[in-house]
Amino acid sequence: MAEVAVIGAGALGLAAARRLVIGGAQVTVFERGPQAGGLAAGFRVGPSWLDRFYHHIFRTDRRLIELLGDLGLGDRLTWGRPPTASLRDGQIRRLDGPLEVLTYSPLSPPARVRLGLVVALIKAIPDPERLEGQTAAAWLRRWMRDEATEDVGKPLLVGKFGREGDKIGMPWFWARVHDRTTSLGYLRGGFQLFYDALADDVRRRGGRVELSCPITSIEQRGNRPYVETPNGGASFDQVLCSLPTRLFVRLASGLPDDYVARFSRAGDHYSAHCVILELDRQLQSAYWLNVTDPGYPFLALVEHTNWLPVGDYAGRHLVYLGNYLPPDDELFTLSDEAVLDRFLPHLARINPRFDRSWVRQAHVFAAPYAQPIVRVGYRESLAPHRTPLAGVWLANMGHVYPHDRGQNYSALLGESIADRVLAELGT
Ligand SMILES: Cc1cc2nc3c(=O)[nH]c(=O)nc-3n(C[C@H](O)[C@H](O)[C@H](O)COP(=O)(O)OP(=O)(O)OC[C@H]3O[C@@H](n4cnc5c(N)ncnc54)[C@H](O)[C@@H]3O)c2cc1C
Repeated sequence: MAEVAVIGAGALGLAAARRLVIGGAQVTVFERGPQAGGLAAGFRVGPSWLDRFYHHIFRTDRRLIELLGDLGLGDRLTWGRPPTASLRDGQIRRLDGPLEVLTYSPLSPPARVRLGLVVALIKAIPDPERLEGQTAAAWLRRWMRDEATEDVGKPLLVGKFGREGDKIGMPWFWARVHDRTTSLGYLRGGFQLFYDALADDVRRRGGRVELSCPITSIEQRGNRPYVETPNGGASFDQVLCSLPTRLFVRLASGLPDDYVARFSRAGDHYSAHCVILELDRQLQSAYWLNVTDPGYPFLALVEHTNWLPVGDYAGRHLVYLGNYLPPDDELFTLSDEAVLDRFLPHLARINPRFDRSWVRQAHVFAAPYAQPIVRVGYRESLAPHRTPLAGVWLANMGHVYPHDRGQNYSALLGESIADRVLAELGT
C-alpha cells in the first residue's frame, strides 16, 4: 500500500487525508498543535467549543456542507440571517440586504442605488478572469463613484489590508461578494466538532493522525521524500504539505536557489489578532459589527451570542474583537492585560453602560499566517502545487485565490490535490 504523509491537520490537510485513505493510501497526518482544526480550532466554553477566531459559513460552501452531512453533523448545522451592521457615527447601522442598502442614511440616495447596482453587477459576473490586473479600489471607484467607494468599499479593504488596501486585486473582491450569501451557517457546538470528526474518520478508515507532532524538516532521501519530527523521521511515497509556502520553504532542504529566492517571501500574509470576552450580559444588538468609526483599536466586533443561544455557552455572552495586522505590529507584543486595558474602554463608546465587571473571562489569540495579501498579480506569485522535491506537494489556503480563505475552499483544494496524488500513485 502506498504511504502518504499529510502535514497539517486543518481543513485542507484533513480533507485531503480523508480522500487519500478512501482512495486506498496508507496515510499519516502530522499536526504541530495538540488538536485538529488549525485556524478553525476551538476551546471549551461550557458544553460547547468556541472557535478561537470567529467563523460562519455561507450557502455556497457546498463541499463543507456535504462533508458535515457525511460525518453525521448535518443536524447541528444551523442557518440564519443574524444582523450584520456597521458602526458609523456612533450608530449601529445595518447594511446586509437590498432594503438596508436603500435606506442606509450615511450615503446619498444616488450613492445607495449605485452601491446596490454594483453588488448586483458583481453577483452577475460569472467568472473573475476579466477582472485580473485591476485593483478593487480602482474598479469600485469607476463603477460606484467616490462616495460609496469611500464609505463602504474602502473601509472593507483598509480594514483587512491596512496600507495595502489600495493594491488588492479585484478578483478577490469579486469572490468576497459573489461567493457570499446573506444566509449564514454555524455548526452548533463549534467547528472543532467537524475537525475531530474528520480526524476520527481518517483513523477509523486506517489512517493515523499524530497530534503535537510538528514536522521539523522535509527532504529527499534516496528518491523518496523523508520527513523529520521530534519523535523521529520516516520516508513516504508522497508528501502533501498544507503549510504556508514561506514555512514550507523554511522546512524543506534541497530546494533550488531560484525557487527559494522566488517563494521564501511569497504569499505575504497579515496576521490575525482576536480578543474574546465572556460577558455576563449582552453588549449590543448586532451579530457582526464592522467598526468604521475612527479611533477604535479593533476593526470587527462579533457578538456570537446575538445569533447562537447563550445556553450553548453556559449563559456566557461571547464577544470577539478582531483585527488583521502586519505580523510585526506592536499589538502582538503586548501582554493580555495590556491588550484589555487598550480595548475595553472603547466598549463604553458602543454601550455607555458597559463596565469592566461584566467581563467574566477574556482570551487573546493570534495567528501569524491568517490572511494572504492578494495584491494585483497575486496569482503569478503562487508556488506550483508540485514542488521541486519529487513526490512532495504543496497546497495551502493562499492557493484558494480568487476565493477568500475559507474552510470550504481549503477542503475542496485538499481533496483535489489528494486526487492528483492518488493518480500519481496509480491507486
Ligand atoms: C480571523 C479569521 C476568521 C475566519 N473566518 C472564517 C469564516 O467565517 N468562515 C470560514 O470558512 N473560514 C474562516 N476563516 C478561514 C479558515 O479558518 C481557514 O481558511 C481554514 O481554517 C484554513 O485551513 P487550512 O487547513 O488551509 O490551514 P490551517 O488551518 O492554517 O492549517 C494548517 C495546519 O498546519 C499546522 N502546522 C503548522 N506548522 C506545522 C508543522 N511544522 N508541522 C505540522 N503541522 C504544522 C497548523 O498547526 C495547522 O493546524 C477565518 C480565519 C481567520 C484567521
